[in-house]
Amino acid sequence: MSGSDSSLVKKAAIAAAAVAAVGMLFWSWNSNMAQAPVEIGYYCLTCKKSDHISVYQANWRQYPGAMSDSVLYCVHCDKGPAHPTNECEKCGAVFILHLFPKYDEFGSPACPKCDAAYGQAAKAKGVHLMPKALNP
Ligand SMILES: [Zn+2]
Ligand SMILES: [Zn+2]
Repeated sequence: MSGSDSSLVKKAAIAAAAVAAVGMLFWSWNSNMAQAPVEIGYYCLTCKKSDHISVYQANWRQYPGAMSDSVLYCVHCDKGPAHPTNECEKCGAVFILHLFPKYDEFGSPACPKCDAAYGQAAKAKGVHLMPKALNP
């Protein structure tokens, strides 16, 4: 009788551990969601300087005739255009948005490194979507 008792305790312990594990998973997932660091940067095509979006938010001047209203005058050289940049979730490459746009069915910008055909098409037009300054 004592044998089956201890196995019952074991089963209960395993069940408790499983619940705790799921709880931890959920907790870490939740905290990840809350933090979600959206590090949007800006890159100036003229002076090739990049900066955090907060610097631009304080000095938001839309660049006329650009593909998007989030293309701005540069805060450094005052010329621009300064384009927002995006970091690829898959390969980590940083590339420029609204310069040679292509988006997937979810509206996410295509990565010129992962989507080689897109990268080639941009290159063929002389558009550098992944400047060295952004990908050291
Ligand atoms: Zn500039
Ligand atoms: Zn990529």
